[in-house]
Order: sequence, then structure tokens, then C-alpha cells
Amino acid sequence: MALRFFAGLVCIILRAEMNAENPFNFGDTPGKLPKEVVPIEYSIRIIPRIDKFTFTGTETVKLNVRRPVRQLVLNVLELEVADASIDGKALPDSAVKIDKKNELLTLALPSELARGEHSLALSFAGKINQQGQGLFYVPYQEHGSGTKKIMLATQFEATDARRFFPCWDEPVFRARFQLTAVVPENWLAVSNMPIESEENSAAGKEVRFAATPPMSSYLNVFVAGELDLIESRSGGTQLRVIATKGKAEMGRYALEATAQILQYYNDYFGLRYPLPKLDQIALPGGFGGAMENWGGITYYESTLLFDPKNSSAETKQNIYEVIAHEIAHQWFGDLVTMAWWDNLWLNEGFASWMGTKCTVHFNPQWEVWLRRNLPRDPTRRFGIAKEQAMEGDARSTTHPIQQPIATEAEANSAFDDITYKKGQSFLRMLESFLGEDVFRDGVRRYIAAHKYSNSTTADLWNALSEASKKPAGEIATGWTEQPGFPVVKVKREGEGRVALTQERFTVNFKNAPPLEWKIPLTFAVIGEAPATLLMTSKADSLPDLPADRALKLNVNGAGNYRVQYDDPSWNLLLQALPNLGVEDRVNLLSDAWALVQANRALVSLYFGLVEKLPASAELAEREQLINVLDYINRLLIGSPEGKKFQRYARSLLRPTFDALGWEPKAGEPSTAGNLRASLINALGDLDDSAIIAGCRERFEKYLTDPASLAPDLRPPVFAVVGRYADEKTWNQLHDRGLKTTSIEEKQNYYNALAGAIEPKLIKKTLPIALTDELPTSRAIFLVSRVARQSDHPDIAWDFAKANMKTLLAKTDALGANRYAPGLFTFFAENSRANELRAYAKANLPETSAPEVAKAVDEIQFRSEFKRRLTPQLNAWIDRKKSKPTDH
Ligand SMILES: [Zn+2]
Repeated sequence: MALRFFAGLVCIILRAEMNAENPFNFGDTPGKLPKEVVPIEYSIRIIPRIDKFTFTGTETVKLNVRRPVRQLVLNVLELEVADASIDGKALPDSAVKIDKKNELLTLALPSELARGEHSLALSFAGKINQQGQGLFYVPYQEHGSGTKKIMLATQFEATDARRFFPCWDEPVFRARFQLTAVVPENWLAVSNMPIESEENSAAGKEVRFAATPPMSSYLNVFVAGELDLIESRSGGTQLRVIATKGKAEMGRYALEATAQILQYYNDYFGLRYPLPKLDQIALPGGFGGAMENWGGITYYESTLLFDPKNSSAETKQNIYEVIAHEIAHQWFGDLVTMAWWDNLWLNEGFASWMGTKCTVHFNPQWEVWLRRNLPRDPTRRFGIAKEQAMEGDARSTTHPIQQPIATEAEANSAFDDITYKKGQSFLRMLESFLGEDVFRDGVRRYIAAHKYSNSTTADLWNALSEASKKPAGEIATGWTEQPGFPVVKVKREGEGRVALTQERFTVNFKNAPPLEWKIPLTFAVIGEAPATLLMTSKADSLPDLPADRALKLNVNGAGNYRVQYDDPSWNLLLQALPNLGVEDRVNLLSDAWALVQANRALVSLYFGLVEKLPASAELAEREQLINVLDYINRLLIGSPEGKKFQRYARSLLRPTFDALGWEPKAGEPSTAGNLRASLINALGDLDDSAIIAGCRERFEKYLTDPASLAPDLRPPVFAVVGRYADEKTWNQLHDRGLKTTSIEEKQNYYNALAGAIEPKLIKKTLPIALTDELPTSRAIFLVSRVARQSDHPDIAWDFAKANMKTLLAKTDALGANRYAPGLFTFFAENSRANELRAYAKANLPETSAPEVAKAVDEIQFRSEFKRRLTPQLNAWIDRKKSKPTDH
């Protein structure tokens, strides 16, 4: 495993000279499968045996043989294959060979297969999985009755379609897929395309779906169960939201949002959504997020269903954003697909950027760029997407957005913050530099040129360069083909000259290879219109700037770089704070905190800025502060300075909460509810006795009268009550979690159980991860939540270590790589880094090496940061004490 880590480093160092990537070309696309034979159309018939968790299937594949071959090579995984025939002639059993390690099926042919069309037929059998990969089952409690039921669903990205049927399972092998499935008569079956025919037989109901347009195999979907739906139409497209029986009406918000979003994209992309229908399906478990299967998007239930009586504003906003992301994929990902997994960021970075842009367009009040992002890791707090990517990208364990992908395991591990969030952040920076209209024209060119086909990053840059007449590709390569990002240092030099220099920004990364970027800079003299400058070398300058005027770089924080101001520039900015917008203030806060982490500034830089902020209650600004206070609070757990820091932190947050109050006020902005919830949570964690008492009182009332507690307040009130729970309260939370059939509500109760401080109660919470009380995909994260929230990461780790096998059986390979290392990231003692290394060596697969390296880096950083931060904090807080109180 160390080998892979070091291989990564060597690759980074050698990348000083970047090779521009080539436009898409089928023959040159990386991958394992030979390209002589190309599938054109699959006809697949599947018969699930639900009682046995197995299935059988048959398929016929129309092939285009481009050059004569003596064998066929395609993908299978955990399938038994039999009855192979080519052009109607049976092959002997000995001709069928499965290479388990490489997930390949090889069929030896009796004679050379000539150029032209041929037909391959196969029978196969496989299993229905517990984890969300391939075909899987989802156990759930039926809404209303609470009866235990089971439904079926699929999840194929990145490389699991091969678990469902033998196929050319690489994205460049586009084909038509025609699926037929046999399901119980009272079930509804859903796939990418509408149902063409249904027929009842002794075996059940045979459902035949229409064939898809040419697409990549990982975009297939099959869902079946006792389902309900609601529907509408938008233009020529049938829209449906599908959920387990009794829950479809909770899809109303999603259905309405979908019509709005689809219209926006039809216009933006300049090409209408190409399929006759768009289904969105809520799964009450099985997997965690959402998957953009063409025409049949699947969602974890609480990212699609909204119950106006019981769901929070956070849930609603998250639903909108996830839908906007997944529908953007219907063009960017489905209609046009990345050629190979090294370009995954094209799918994910773009869908993240596009989805956020669309969400902001219709919901500007949510401050989306400043705070929200898709919660890929359910144990993490919401935060600014860009900041989360930059945190990881500053470390030694980062990688370029585009990186070579050789194996299936590497394809799966490409789904990380760098791919999604740095990708999104870079596109936003490029758009703000090229201009919105020009950027959109470039995207339209790109979609028109590559529809029903594949592409590389180079194709997107070429389209954007043509549209903008600017060298988009030249700017981009530094950001997508090398790791990290720059900090721009600002220095006033007299006579109105401002010197700019760039260097690589790193955290906990000694001797980092120096790198340079072409930075699309934006800047503004406060009070004047912003301007741009493409910084193409190590040093540059801005002329003619009055020495007494404040200068802000990275206007609205839209750029993916840090800025470090010299003292005169910083002091001018502090004076100008009231004249800056919330985007710029959040950007200054984020940069200041990052400079403290990077040991480029003392903590007084950050808190000095915080104390000068205007006394407004802007959500994003307060949340940036809350995230920092939370980070420090958890870092100081158990140390003598902890209480003192909590007192200081409360003094920063309390005035905002007192102004907001517990109860919603008529006419308050919609973000007030989010802010109130965040503050209750944060102040509860900071041991604020009035907040704790207020939460307990409201929880008591809620137990007898649920309507007495607003949905927005439920998650924080439960969390605070759970944190300071005694056995009786623990049981009350648990009983309600057991009974509710709402996935969102269930999660709120169990999250609260995970935060208890009392070790005896934590030891009651942890074993729930081994049961089926929570959906499979979420159960194991209960342990991660305990590690993060309970003050006892040690108890969580001891439990996980003792039960690792059972826990990992509930997750897929990717989850397994991240799980154990993830539990260590809440430690701040170097000895734990050694313990993790030793544990990984003895127990974890080699594919978890990058995650182990990240966790080791995080522990070492926290240990060093804690040592460095503690005296600085003491000095800052004591300075406060010696002065008359501010609050
Ligand atoms: Zn996505």
C-alpha cells in the first residue's frame, strides 16, 4: 500500500511539464476491453428470485465486429455464465472463461469472426445484494402500517452493471439497451424507458421496456416494488416521482421543482431533454446519495421526499440541489459521457456547478454558493463546497482533478471532493472570467458536437475557446492536470503600485513541489466596479491604486485561490468591511482561517476579523464562524483550555441567537430558520446552559404534542437533548426512531443518539449499527457519527475494530476503503497515526492506501495544530479579559 502512495508522489513531481490531452477518439480511449468488437444493442431478460436473493437472466447482444477476431472479451462480476452461442451456434462450455480478478469474460471462438454484424447470446445467474451495488434489495417499513417489506433496485456506477448482465462495461461502449423483467403482479417496475408491454404469466408479470438510445452501460436502471407515483408533464416530457406505497404525495415538491429545472436546462443546453419520460425514484435505503440513470434517477428517500408538516428547510433545499445536480447529468454525463474514468470530473464537476447555478437562479435567498453542497459523507457538516475541496487540495495527499485510472477500484475511488468540488469551483472561476453568456455558448457547442457520444476535457476547452476567443485550455491545464492551488500575496509598494506574487498554498505539507498557475484574477477597489487580470507568471502588479483605498482580490470569492494581504492592505479592508457584500466577507473569513491553518498567520488574524464584522445575521457568514468554532471546540476536547474557549465562543454566537429568538417571527427571511437551527446546535455543543434547558423543555412538550415543535427546530433540539441525555431520554429518542417510517425523521433520532456524552449511553448506541434498525447504507455511519459527535472517538474505534467484518459487509468496496481510516480523523494524537498504519497493514486491502494516507495526514495535522493553536488562543482570549467586556 505504501507503494501506491509513493507512486502518486512521483507522478506529481514529474508532472511539472503538462501534456495537453487529446480530443475524444474511440480507438485511443483507455480501458481494458479490446476495441475490435463493439456492442450495438442488448436485449436482456431478468427473472429475480426474491425469496432466495438470486436472479437468472438471458441476453442477446448485436455486435459490430470492426476487425476479425478469434475471441470476445467483455465484463462480468459474480455472475455464472452458460449457454453461450454466436450467430445461433452454441459454443462448448470450455470456450467460456471467467477471469475473476480482472472481472473479464472471454469467449473463445471456433473460427475467426468476420468483420460485420453478429449476434451473441448468453444465459447467466447472479445474486441480489444487501449493499447498494448491482441488483440489490431494500428492506423497509411500509408507511402507515409499519409492515416489513422488500423492494429491488440497481446501482451500477462506476463498474457494477457487470454484476447484472455480462456487458462491455466501459463508458465508451455506448449501446441501446432493451430490458425485460419478470416481477410479482402487484409490483410496479421502472427502468430508463417507458413500458412497451406487460403480460401476466405463471411466473409473474413480464414487463418489457422500450430500448434506450445509445448510452453507457453504467446508466442502466431497474427498480421494482410495491410503489406509488404522482405525475405531471413538462413540454413533451412525462415527469413522475415514484416512492414506496403511501409516500408518493411527499414527492410533490420534487415534481414541481423538476418541471422548473428541466425547463431551465432545456434552454441552457440549447437541446431539449431527449427521452419521453423522466422518472425520479425514492429508495428507502440501499445506497446513500442519488444516481443519474438516464430517464430513471434514483435517490435516497430523504433527498427526494419532502413532508411539509415534518421536513426541515434544510431538507427542502437539499432536495432542490440534488435534483438540479442529477437532472444536469441527463445532458452532462448521459447524453454526452466522459470517455473514461480519468475524466469523471467532467461529469461530476460540471453537474455540481450547473446544479448549483440553477438552484441559485431560482432560490437566490438560500446563499447556495456560500454554504451548501451535496453531503457525500453523511458524517460531515454542511460547508462551503469550495472550502472543503481546498482543504483537501492543500495537503500532501491531494491529486489532480484529472488523474490516470487503471483499475475498477481506482475508478470507484475517483468519486471524491477534488472531482466534485474542485471541479465545480474551477468551472465557476472560469465562467466568471469568460462571462456567463460566452460560457453558455461554449457549452451549447460542446453538447451539440458530442450528443449521443463521448468526450474528453479537451473537447470542452476547445468549445469554450471557440466561443470565447480566449485560451480556455491553456488556463485550465494548470487547474485540472496538476494538484493544489495558489495563494496570491498582495503587497503595497508605494506610488500606487501593488505587487502580486503567487506561490503554492499548502497545509501540513513540507517541501511541496513548487507549482505555478495561470490565475484568472478578479479584483476591485472597494466602491468601484470589479476588473480582471490573467496572472500568467510568478509576479505581476496593479498600477495606480490610491494608497488609502481598500483593495479586494477574488471578487465574491468566486476564484479557487487564497489571498494573503500585507498589513496595510488588511487594515484598509477591515475598515471597509461594512461596505463589502456577504460573499466577500465570507471569502475573507475563509481565507483568514486557512492562513491560520497553514501557519501563515496567527489566530488573532481570524478572530480580529470576526470581532469587526457588522452585527448582521447573515446566514453564510455566521455558519463560517460556527464551523471554525466547532472545529476548535472538538480539537480541544478534554484539554484544560476547552471550557475557556467555549465561554469565548458562546460570547461570539449568543448575540445573534438572542436577536433571532427561539420562535420564527412573521416576515423573517427563509434563511432565519436555518440559522436558528445552526446556532442552537452550535451553542448546545458549546455547553450553553440556557440553550440546553430550552431544548429539554421543547422536547418534553414535543413528546405529547409533536406539532408544538417546528420541523426546522427538530434536528437541533433532538441533537442537544441527545448530547446531554440520561437513560430515560435516550430511550425516548430511540423508541421514536424505531417507530417512525420516515427516513428523514428516523435519521434525526439516531443522529441524536450518536451524540451522547455519557459513555454508558454511547455503548448502547453503537451496537445499533449492527442491526437493521437503520437502512443498510446508513447504519455503519452511526459509528462515524459517534466518533465525530460524542467526544469519545476512542470508544467508537474500539467498537468498530471489534465488529469490523459485520460493519463492512454493509458497504461497498469504496465505503470499505474509507470506513476505518475515516474513524481516525477525529483523533489528534500522533500515536493514533501509528496505530492506523499498523491496523491498515494487517487488516485493510491495498486499495485503501490513499484513504489511510489522508487520515494519517489529518491526525498529524490536528496534533500539530492543537499544539500551535492553544497558546495563541489563550493569548487572544486573555487579551479580551483584560479589556472592558464588549458584549
Ligand atoms: Zn453527480
